[in-house]
Amino acid sequence: MAAVRKPVIAGNWKMHMGPVATGEFFAAFARAYQPDAGRTIIFFPPAISVTAAREALRARGDIAIGVQNTYWQPKGAFTGEVSAPMAREAGATYVLAGHSERRHVFGETDQDVARKARAAFDAGLTAVVCVGETLDERRAGRVDEVILRQLDAVLEALTPEQAADVLVAYEPVWAIGTGVNATPEDAAAAHGTLRRRLAERLGGARAGLVPILYGGSVKPDNAGTLLAATDVDGLLVGGASLDPAGFALIAASGA
Ligand code: PEP
Repeated sequence: MAAVRKPVIAGNWKMHMGPVATGEFFAAFARAYQPDAGRTIIFFPPAISVTAAREALRARGDIAIGVQNTYWQPKGAFTGEVSAPMAREAGATYVLAGHSERRHVFGETDQDVARKARAAFDAGLTAVVCVGETLDERRAGRVDEVILRQLDAVLEALTPEQAADVLVAYEPVWAIGTGVNATPEDAAAAHGTLRRRLAERLGGARAGLVPILYGGSVKPDNAGTLLAATDVDGLLVGGASLDPAGFALIAASGA
């Protein structure tokens, strides 16, 4: 990994942790994990817990907060949705775009994800663009085709400046929440594919600065090995980010 890309360790809480549990989590995490200027730490709590997270982290400017999803319209008659400007106002600085559960449980298309990423950047959020193939797609030898299609859809919707600011997360669908992580070799191969496409679109120098995170059954005991793989610049962690002590170990892994 190039020294200029600081490791990004992110926790996606999915639909866990209301405001009370969020406050308790960060009290414990702040004790277990000391600030490290060499790392970027981001949590993605449920939107309803963003304010509690910001409150709990008032003394911890080293930890950023994001939301798991936003709608592409800024406001209006879209019951149940949260907009990017609202998330920004609540203190979020990042948003996940196209997490596999959004794509496969809620039916989001590549175009939906692209519109959401564009709206996020327009509102001042940084989008973490999630891509990844299903097991059937992997078995059919379609990994590169699928992840490049997903990445391209977003890059085409962004201005060049916005595209240069994306973070990408490679999260094979078959590895999410299954306990079966990709091998470091498989992760490195997919990340290399993504990096080459970023270089074609952004130029090599800019592409070299884009963090590409791996996600899928990361745990304290495999985090260091995955983080050491070529072109793996960080980790997006679901289930294991719900345990403050365990996630503190992951956040410090390889340091
Ligand atoms: C995720 O939700 O992005 C994820 C990678 O989940 P898990 O770590 O539980 O596989």
